[in-house]
Amino acid sequence: MNATKHIAVLGSTGSIGQSAIQVIQAIDGLHLTAISGHQNIAALVEQANQLRPAYVVATDPAAVDRFIADGGQLPNINGTEFLIGPEALETIATLPQVDTVLAAIVGIAGLQSTFAAVSAGKRVALANKESMVVAGHLLTKLAAETGAEILPVDSEHSAIFQALKSGKPDEVSRVILTASGGPFREFTHQAMAKVTVEQALAHPTWEMGKKISIDSATMMNKALELIEAKWLFNLSANQLAVTIHPQSIVHSLVEYRDGSSIAQLSPPDMMLPIQYAFSYPDRIDGPCPRLDLTQPWELSFLPPDVERFPAIELGFEVIKMGGTSGAVLNAANEAAVDAFLNQKIGFNDIVVACREVLEQHYFDPFPELADILEADRWARLEISKWITA
Ligand code: NAD
Ligand code: MG
Repeated sequence: MNATKHIAVLGSTGSIGQSAIQVIQAIDGLHLTAISGHQNIAALVEQANQLRPAYVVATDPAAVDRFIADGGQLPNINGTEFLIGPEALETIATLPQVDTVLAAIVGIAGLQSTFAAVSAGKRVALANKESMVVAGHLLTKLAAETGAEILPVDSEHSAIFQALKSGKPDEVSRVILTASGGPFREFTHQAMAKVTVEQALAHPTWEMGKKISIDSATMMNKALELIEAKWLFNLSANQLAVTIHPQSIVHSLVEYRDGSSIAQLSPPDMMLPIQYAFSYPDRIDGPCPRLDLTQPWELSFLPPDVERFPAIELGFEVIKMGGTSGAVLNAANEAAVDAFLNQKIGFNDIVVACREVLEQHYFDPFPELADILEADRWARLEISKWITA
């Protein structure tokens, strides 16, 4: 890298945000310009005091009030501006001195700031897959207009992005996403009906935020990732496939027309895809762990069981439907995951509810942003009908 990169980390207090800060601190050419956090103000203030970025955004004013009422102190640092409220995300996503925006907010809450960064022509290191799922058609079109680069942070998509360097677009026959299978890979449908929130949050290979941990357990995460891959790499449903790979070492594969498959391998650690989205097109030294060849290791692959994990099919269906279907699936899933985390619905209900809401929705083939937000609102309302208590 020949010039210093100035980075805004949206969602710095989260799992991806914290990994990103580790990467930025470890590499000289990376500079942290702005951070944001939502409810954990204590963690945000600690990051602000330690890292002293030019801008700190607390997106939830009520959380700031609670923090102060509990005796907490907002930072008072020379050269650091502390902004409160969700609008300030757009301020930091479009700062002239920022060249790279890491979109690491979870859920549709990350949509507007992702749009803002793309509108401003930034490099967007995209962890917030939900924004691509709901508005992939708008974001990719906007990026083509503004010159914004949308680079994947999701490990599978980073792997695909890297493997696509081995051939030309018209030489690709298939893209195969790997999935760990989550904590219930070997559970029967009946056993999954009774799992607790704690069991569902205990992912075997990755440490992540709560929402994506539940998505991994239902495998809705793979459905969202299939849709994300469609938009990032301009692929059709019949060019996409999923394989279960419990070790999470092979992060995905691209199969070319001559029968050659190119994969990307690394230990399961998000620092590498984050670093690559920052350093691209260069590869640089950094803090990422390496594969340990002094230990025995095994890679295994098996086909996914769509009977036990019906979420995967929803991903393919949404790719074929397009329009508002991504927004509806995403919102239904966000609301259903929330209901499960609050013990209002059972684990297996998440995907059943999502399918029903998707099937009932009034389909718009060419939605604008307002239509997407309306579809999102409608789907959440439908899920609320599933909540009995
Ligand atoms: P997390 O829950 O650990 O962190 C979420 C971040 O978003 C926090 O900083 C939180 O303060 C902020 N946030 C939450 N609600 C918000 C709101 N309403 N407004 C503004 N900010 C809000 O989640 P995570 O695991 O870091 O995941 C972040 C994103 O990255 C998700 O889209 C996820 O799918 C994606 N992702 C995560 C991983 C992973 O390993 N954790 C891997 C691939 C992709
Ligand atoms: Mg992933």
